[in-house]
Amino acid sequence: MRIGHGYDVHAFAENRKLFLCGVEISEAEQGLLGHSDADVALHALMDAMLGAAALGDIGMQFPDSDPQLAGADSAVLLERVDRLLRSRGYCVHNLDLTIVAQVPKLQPYIQTMRYRIAQVLGLDVDRVSVKATTEEGLGFTGRKEGIAAHCVCLLDESEIS
Ligand code: MG
Repeated sequence: MRIGHGYDVHAFAENRKLFLCGVEISEAEQGLLGHSDADVALHALMDAMLGAAALGDIGMQFPDSDPQLAGADSAVLLERVDRLLRSRGYCVHNLDLTIVAQVPKLQPYIQTMRYRIAQVLGLDVDRVSVKATTEEGLGFTGRKEGIAAHCVCLLDESEIS
């Protein structure tokens, strides 16, 4: 088994939809700024997966300078990372993702997020943990300037597929 950790931050921006774990958070007043859909949670997950395989990070795999990635759906990028890992003989054993946000309230979306990630990675949902927390009004997330996400992920050696 191999372990990886990922961390990402995106700032809130007007006139953007909010996507977290590949799910649109329809109640959000603001979205996140970014070259892709700015799904900070999936970005942390992909960095954890790539980190576990020692294959760099998503900045390396999907450069900001690539015009084809403007507005990209991070769930599609996650599928590509999963395929890359499988081609190297790895598959995700389980993952634990924590989203740090003062707003919006994420509790109603947690199960949908877990199922979405499980679907993209072809995993049982009991291998996918998604949690949300606030930082009690402290720091940039507390000031509602943006959202952070942390992820830890274990990889199994798998059959080459
Ligand atoms: Mg990012």
